[in-house]
Amino acid sequence: MNFYVMTLFPDMIRAATDESIIGRAKESGLIRIDPVNIRDYAFNKHSRVDDYPYGGGAGMLMQAEPVYRCYESIATRMGKEKPPVIYLSPQGETLTQAKVEDLAHRDDLILLCGHYEGIDQRVLDEIVTEEISVGDYVLTGGELPALILIDAVARMIPGVLHNDGSTEAESFSEGLLEYPQYTRPEEWHDRKVPEILLSGHHANVEKWRYLQQLITTAVKRPDLLEDRDLSDEEMEAIEQALQNSR
Ligand code: SAM
Repeated sequence: MNFYVMTLFPDMIRAATDESIIGRAKESGLIRIDPVNIRDYAFNKHSRVDDYPYGGGAGMLMQAEPVYRCYESIATRMGKEKPPVIYLSPQGETLTQAKVEDLAHRDDLILLCGHYEGIDQRVLDEIVTEEISVGDYVLTGGELPALILIDAVARMIPGVLHNDGSTEAESFSEGLLEYPQYTRPEEWHDRKVPEILLSGHHANVEKWRYLQQLITTAVKRPDLLEDRDLSDEEMEAIEQALQNSR
């Protein structure tokens, strides 16, 4: 999968994607991340890409033309006439795991990062097909949101994680949060690993983990359980856990 990132700060994208799992995925060719510098498409001798907003107001805006030229060069490289563009924006649809999984099934993604007070609306109207937000707060630029999206999408691509099964029981897959996990030693600060995890009884471990997913979700994110059919046993376990947590 190719991620084209339209940005004024390509080094931010490179620095954060050269390391660890994403860095290895790039090296092995499973993903390609191509930060494209919008400033390279400035059309004045000082390479300026921002200007004052018409009508006044605080801050500067990114101009339409350099963003459009940058988009055209990516489209040419992709061999596509009007490829879709995701604009990272606080006004967009909030990124969820379901959305991440949807994006992971697409071929290539073009991500547009704004800066300053944002981007001239006309180029957004012309090229943007989707707006995605990383939450109801405002950041200085779209680079961190783009990196969040790339990280979340890349780890869904087969082969990127060492153990491909590790996304299956994770938080938000199947609409539940993950169960608690433990590693060695068996006892730490007088806290013991739950007995059942040492039993070697696979079916019982699975059952316990599923119940723990329900309980964790009920305690931390009860909204995720609203539309879920629960058995009497599950309801009882959740009720018990909620009472203990009060
Ligand atoms: N003036 C804009 C507004 O009020 O909607 C905010 C502009 S923000 C300072 C600059 C850029 O950061 C935006 O163009 C966008 O690309 C990015 N950005 C800021 N917050 C974001 C968020 N929560 N999610 C995604 N992108 C965000």
